[in-house]
Amino acid sequence: MEAKSSQLPDSRGYFGQFGGTFVPERLMPALDELEQAFNQASADSDFQREFQELCRNYIGRPTPLYPAQRLAARMDGAAILLKREDLAHTGAHKINNALGQGLLAKRMGKNRIVAETGAGQHGVAVATVCAMLGLNCIIYMGEEDVRRQATNALRMKLLGAEVRPVASGSRTLKDAINETIRDWVTNVRDTYYLLGSVVGPHPYPTMVRHFQSVIGQETREQVTAMYHRLPDYLVACVGGGSNAMGLFHPFFDDRDVKFIGVEAAGKGLDTGKHAASLSAGRVGVLHGARSYLLQDSHGQIAETLSIAAGLDYPGVGPEHSYYKETGRATYMAVTDSQALEGFKLLCQTEGIIPALESSHAIYYAARLAASLPREQIIVVNLSGRGDKDLDIVSRALEMKP
Ligand SMILES: *Cc1c(COP(=O)(O)O)cnc(C)c1O
Repeated sequence: MEAKSSQLPDSRGYFGQFGGTFVPERLMPALDELEQAFNQASADSDFQREFQELCRNYIGRPTPLYPAQRLAARMDGAAILLKREDLAHTGAHKINNALGQGLLAKRMGKNRIVAETGAGQHGVAVATVCAMLGLNCIIYMGEEDVRRQATNALRMKLLGAEVRPVASGSRTLKDAINETIRDWVTNVRDTYYLLGSVVGPHPYPTMVRHFQSVIGQETREQVTAMYHRLPDYLVACVGGGSNAMGLFHPFFDDRDVKFIGVEAAGKGLDTGKHAASLSAGRVGVLHGARSYLLQDSHGQIAETLSIAAGLDYPGVGPEHSYYKETGRATYMAVTDSQALEGFKLLCQTEGIIPALESSHAIYYAARLAASLPREQIIVVNLSGRGDKDLDIVSRALEMKP
């Protein structure tokens, strides 16, 4: 029999065969301390209240659940509801997790925060929360990413964070992750590692799921108030998998609600130039956990490619691997050019400029809607706004400002 949501992960941090803690021995005490602090905090009503109040007054929650009627009419099928995480402070869902873990760090008495960032979205969310809570913030970012994402590096500095460019390896996200872990190991007594998705060693996938579940909890109340029933489909893009897990998890035990995760197919799954770990990867260990990964024939981590920087990661959260293996969720892949179609479609039908990550989910949901009868309800997580992507989009569409 499949496990109930309350039984996952098990006490060693496994979702079936996925997850666990594949880290150097000297990090184990830090992970144990973190797990204990998280368990205590999440059972403490004062902590919950503080998180909820800042969700309301700082992030601007609850975010709306918007019926996209012109988009649905265009597709001539099921209803499409957009969960508007693009309207959260800083323009995406990442702030929910940054806030939750920032409060946890403070409660643990750790006033020095380290985090890695790729395109800079997680770095900006962490720097934002650190400024608001009065925590010292150090962001590791590959040199190549600092160059490509100069505006986000500037944002972090303006918010008071120290941005440390990483010159090793390919000078991108995975090198920044290694450097962050090195810092954490060295300074573990006063330092908190604020991880940005439902990845990494236990307890991170569970903690990040917990803080992002505010998305699915609100959706449940909002859709029930509108339709007096639960939706038929939940659709979300999957990079590491946090916005998808945040939407899905509160519906885990509602077996009639179908989950669809949408990965980045880049130039196409058959070209090898993509970031679809669940659709095209194999099981292995990366960044502290066992999960599906993109590897080459020698078992080396493969180079990934996606037009959406936030989906450009060779791994995926272990709970998604478990959902794939048990069939609780289905994972599809959408190419760069299809995501651009989704992007334009939402701009033109609804007056909303979505993030390129979210555009993957929009594209898939629109196609799905067209194949379904009108009585069906699809909720799409609009994980972020697209202002950050205008340069990339204008180049891809060869548009001039
Ligand atoms: C980072 C990001 C993602 C991907 O991260 P997940 O952990 O998979 O949610 C998706 N959408 C936006 C807007 C992002 O910034």
